[in-house]
Amino acid sequence: MYDRKQMEEILKENVVNLRFHARGGQGGVTASNLCVEAFYGYGICQPRFGAERMGSPTESYVRLSANEDLIRSNEQVYAPHFVSVLDPSLLSEVDVIAGVPKGGWLIVNTALNQQEIQEIVGRKDINIATIDATRIALEVLGRNITNTIILGALIRVSHLFTLDELADAVMRRFKDNIAAKNVEAIKQAIEDTCVYDIGIQMDFTQDTKISWQQVELGLPGYKEVDKAGVWYCDEETIPVGSDQVRTGSWGEWDIIWDEETCTDCAQCWFICPDFAILREKGEDGKYHMIGIDREHCKSCQNCLEVCPVNAISKQLKQGPASCAVPEEELKEAN
Ligand code: SF4
Ligand code: SF4
Repeated sequence: MYDRKQMEEILKENVVNLRFHARGGQGGVTASNLCVEAFYGYGICQPRFGAERMGSPTESYVRLSANEDLIRSNEQVYAPHFVSVLDPSLLSEVDVIAGVPKGGWLIVNTALNQQEIQEIVGRKDINIATIDATRIALEVLGRNITNTIILGALIRVSHLFTLDELADAVMRRFKDNIAAKNVEAIKQAIEDTCVYDIGIQMDFTQDTKISWQQVELGLPGYKEVDKAGVWYCDEETIPVGSDQVRTGSWGEWDIIWDEETCTDCAQCWFICPDFAILREKGEDGKYHMIGIDREHCKSCQNCLEVCPVNAISKQLKQGPASCAVPEEELKEAN
């Protein structure tokens, strides 16, 4: 890990690249904006969205340097020195370590320990920092918004900016009481971050740009855009939409239905955006609620809010943090 002075030297002649992985609504783009606002030098950030939906995977990219001429690139970051993952479920859904060089840093909001992360991502040549940001967010902010908290972990391992610099940026951006709570959460994150430094220093002078690539859209059955700008398909049915996406991995809550309390009013069924309330035709010829489809429930909690008899509740998927694997133990495992 480089200290602040070493990082300042590196930034004079190099660009430090960052990538944030989040889900729509978690504030990954705000986190990347705050990096630039907190940084003393020059910075640029770009977001990349997929589906415009709450919960869908998003990415955002940041370039930082003390040299103004080095950051004039508007493309994606393909080889990030620091990757921050705001949602633990993304670890198994997105290639979060794509392009990370040897000695790069993976910072994850998770209750898993570093060894478990190594196994999931299949890399032992990168440094790992873990923070149970979901717990801090729920305790301090009262909502699962982990974007500023993950920046606390980033400060701890990167020294790109200080707590005071980030706190200033947060105070400028948010209203007083919200900003103060976020600063408190960031302080806690700096303390609680579990750092596993494998001792390999990154080479920032290496060119991390890769040549432009054609991106495959991968839509089944689609042909090229016709002259009117419309996608078309030979097949009668085009299998797209929520049904094709396992949105069940998108949320942090398990949604629990209490059959005994339920009065079968169907209000949850009307409001569910992902058709995750299951109903079946009974012997009386009417439809009755039979449960929740975990493959597609993205834990938006709409059903909790509308249920008139509180027959639906939630339980955090992520258990308590277990990040404190002794560093010696991890080094032996490598
Ligand atoms: S939380 Fe409720 S409303 Fe939201 S997706 Fe799950 S079942 Fe549907
Ligand atoms: S809103 Fe509540 S009571 Fe009504 S069907 Fe859904 S779970 Fe049952």
